[in-house]
Formats: sequence, C-alpha cells, structure tokens
Amino acid sequence: MARSGGCRCGAVRYTLSAEPVATRLCWCRDCQYWALGNAAVNIMVPRAAVEVTGTPRRFESMADSGNRMTRSFCGECGTQLFSASSGNLEYMVVRVGTLDDASGIRPTMAIWTGSAPPWAHIDPALQAFPRQPG
Ligand SMILES: [Zn+2]
Ligand SMILES: [Zn+2]
Repeated sequence: MARSGGCRCGAVRYTLSAEPVATRLCWCRDCQYWALGNAAVNIMVPRAAVEVTGTPRRFESMADSGNRMTRSFCGECGTQLFSASSGNLEYMVVRVGTLDDASGIRPTMAIWTGSAPPWAHIDPALQAFPRQPG
C-alpha cells in the first residue's frame, strides 16, 4: 500500500511504496528539538521505497549513537521530514506527523527513553530501550 505525505506548506512531497519495517517513538535529545519537547514518532522505511519531490534542506549532526545523522526539512515552512543515519544506509526515517494519513500507524517501541525528561509519559505497552536498540 502506498502512502504519501509532505511538509506543512506543500513545497516538499513524498510517496512511500513499501510498508514501514518499524514504528518507533524516539526520545533522543535531538528528537526533543525537532518534536518540540516530546518524542518524535518515526517510521523506518527502505530508502529505495521513498520518492521525494521538491528540495528539502539538510542538517547534519553527530548522534548520541556515534552515527552521523542527516535530517531533512522544508526550508520554507520548517517541517522536519526525514532523517538518515550513516550507520544504516538501507533505511531512512520518516516523521509520522508528515503523513497525509497516519491512522494506520501503530508505534511498537520507544527508544532513547534514558534521555526523556522526568515528566515524559512512556506507554508501558511499548517495548522500551534506554538507548539505541542493538
Ligand atoms: Zn514546507
Ligand atoms: Zn531521536
């Protein structure tokens, strides 16, 4: 089933031609910036299944895991769209809030819970990892 999405202003659009292999809440310190204080909700999809129209801007940083992360966002409206890790070239991460329809998405895992603030609510039904799962 194909999914589609894009940034808030529509300058960047994408389609996904494969189902996500993982759906995760990420509490890493970086995601707390992009998700405005909360965990980011991310799906992981094969890179080859992602087709992008428009030209997102990129921001590179070193993640807590030691991997080099490239995050893509719309230069017009600022929406965070994708991230990709130097430690995992086969897959990329898509921000669930940018999907046109996220109703079929069900998180199964919370990662980097060790860097969540004390007030964070972490659903006990989710498999939780204090850092990046092995
Ligand atoms: Zn935009
Ligand atoms: Zn994160």
